[in-house]
Amino acid sequence: MSILQLTDVNAYYGGIHALKGINIHVDKGEIVTLIGSNGAGKSTTLKTISGQVIPKTGQVLFEGKDITKQPPHITALSGIAHVPEGRRIFPRLTVRENLEMGAFSVKDKKLIQERMERVFHYFPRVKERLDQRGGTMSGGEQQMVAIGRALMSGPHILMLDEPSMGLAPIIVEQIFEIIHELNREGMTILLVEQNAYQALQIAHRGYVIQTGEIKMVGSGQDLINDDIVKEAYLA
Ligand code: ATP
Repeated sequence: MSILQLTDVNAYYGGIHALKGINIHVDKGEIVTLIGSNGAGKSTTLKTISGQVIPKTGQVLFEGKDITKQPPHITALSGIAHVPEGRRIFPRLTVRENLEMGAFSVKDKKLIQERMERVFHYFPRVKERLDQRGGTMSGGEQQMVAIGRALMSGPHILMLDEPSMGLAPIIVEQIFEIIHELNREGMTILLVEQNAYQALQIAHRGYVIQTGEIKMVGSGQDLINDDIVKEAYLA
């Protein structure tokens, strides 16, 4: 069953037609990746889902409900967590406070603690740095905090916008491993990546987006083995 479905989504920034009739879906339990070059429309696709960009036409359905025009704060509460490009953690807040911000709507202290333990399970490193200010962490650690903060909201789907950006190869490796583990333990994931090879390796399915249009769709392995994909995105 699809947890998320975009149908004929058209989105604009003023006169720029950024998404031209996008159709994608994500099934429960999948990792779906969206790959494409700079400016192809990957981030905009995530923004139309989280409500930061309202499509001019088309529909976004989440768990069967029309959320096309839903503002971001409502979307976040309804089970969609969006980890934006560049992570955007709060630099002056401690790691603990950053995590708590992810669960701001949760009143149950025990539930917050349980979710925090869950975050520590994936990111033991984060547990060691709880009292450190976010801004003093390395890029990889900040990405871990950003994903941890998203998990604190108890999402049904996790959307990650270029989680590997700007990180050293060994850290990228770790981040992909954790994304894979999160999925194996049940999390549905929509992953935007420039790092196409690694994203396709862990994805059940992938979409190739080019100048606002979906050009190809297939299993992660089929796309990795496709000559056009190889030449354009894996070289
Ligand atoms: P990147 O990896 O560079 O973020 P992307 O695939 O995520 O690329 P988008 O950021 O979705 O691409 O951009 C899609 C198109 O919309 C591009 O032509 C981009 O220049 C344009 N665009 C994105 N954000 C804005 C904005 N705030 N105002 C005007 N144009 C924008």
